[in-house]
Amino acid sequence: MKVAKFGGSSVADAQQILKVVDIVKADPDRRIVVVSAPGKRFPDDIKVTDLLITLADAVIAGQPYESELATVVARYAEIHKALDLDAAIVTEIETDLRGRIADRSSNDAQFMDTIKASGEDNNAKIIAQVFANQGVQARYVDPKDAGMLLSDDFGNAHVLPDSFQNLASLRDEQNIVIFPGFFGYTRQGEVATFPRGGSDITGAILAAAVKADAYENFTDVDSVFAMDPRILGTAPAISLLTYREMRELSYAGFGVFHDEAIVPAVQAKVPICIKNTNRPAAPGTMIVAERRYEHGEVTGIASADGFSAIYLSKYMMNREVGFGRRLLQILEEEQLSFEHAPSGIDNMSVILRSAPFSAEKEQQVLDRIQTELETDDVTIEHGLSLIMIVGEGMRYAVGLAAKACAALADAGVNIEMINQGSSEISIMFGVKEVDRKHAVQALGHALLKID
Ligand code: ASP
Repeated sequence: MKVAKFGGSSVADAQQILKVVDIVKADPDRRIVVVSAPGKRFPDDIKVTDLLITLADAVIAGQPYESELATVVARYAEIHKALDLDAAIVTEIETDLRGRIADRSSNDAQFMDTIKASGEDNNAKIIAQVFANQGVQARYVDPKDAGMLLSDDFGNAHVLPDSFQNLASLRDEQNIVIFPGFFGYTRQGEVATFPRGGSDITGAILAAAVKADAYENFTDVDSVFAMDPRILGTAPAISLLTYREMRELSYAGFGVFHDEAIVPAVQAKVPICIKNTNRPAAPGTMIVAERRYEHGEVTGIASADGFSAIYLSKYMMNREVGFGRRLLQILEEEQLSFEHAPSGIDNMSVILRSAPFSAEKEQQVLDRIQTELETDDVTIEHGLSLIMIVGEGMRYAVGLAAKACAALADAGVNIEMINQGSSEISIMFGVKEVDRKHAVQALGHALLKID
């Protein structure tokens, strides 16, 4: 059996939802269908999840929210009208949303998750009705009844181990299961969501739980490309990737698949296939445990903006036992997760995502480092991009870093940081955000031999 997950653009409107029904009908192995909330119908459109966040923000701020609520309901009403569904469903959705607002929890993060989760929940209910209207035996399954248990890190939850056993029984379900992505329930019965884009994670958990033969992830591109095609339009498609490669590429900006969704699939050894809802016959990209590779071959180059680096120096740091631990402990106490921590003899730097850094938080962290670690100097730099060159074939590659550095030098890009060796299959560069595009183009020409 297969688990098929359909992303936001695949369920954005009636026409797209009908494609989903056709795809599921075309293969009897597609028994579990995971759906996102309606995404963008056109480039400047707003995803329902973003509309819901605006709605929740208005409620939290005590501002009027009727027009925000009406905008969300209108998205479902449009689908309902185009597909001639049961008239009651739109009223049910509106009542559901008003109920979530009326039962507002005193914990804003938890309330936000309850509102965000309604996007997928109501879409799954609508889609189950579309399947039924098209003569397909399908049933909406509530993640609460199915036992999708998550931690209570609202907005950033992770799956609890019991979920896998709870969800395993969906394998025996006679109807096609329509399961909303992105959220589950805490042990206390509160709604909690995964990070943004988390319906991929739901699909992977279900695929692992029911021991699916494949996890198909339907999106709006034919395959994973070796580079962001918006940076180099001639970037080649990748037909086969390993889990490790996909995780590194997703981590560093390949938005096509959530990096956290790899883990359950790896553990259960379920192959993943990325496919296009708009061109289901295209072969897509397979992601598997092992593949043959050429020595020295680069598979893909990913890049992402939004990083900051804390640089600190202190003479004789290398002799001070526990320095690194104390530095990282400060970050832990400030609830900051670090991404990389390259170090020298008397220097150390820590790369973090910029998003959680308010000006206040930044000052607090720098002051603590200065006073508690008695550093000679501590500074912070924002506006950094990470570029990740990834490939199984890089394990034994000689001269690859030299080639990459030469390409960046020729392009006039200053390398702020380089991290090689922590992962056998990748090299990471830090550059200024303004240089990112240019740097990635230069690396694409040199290492992927793209014109
Ligand atoms: N709808 C959610 C988001 O936009 C989750 C998802 O689509 O995977 O982040």
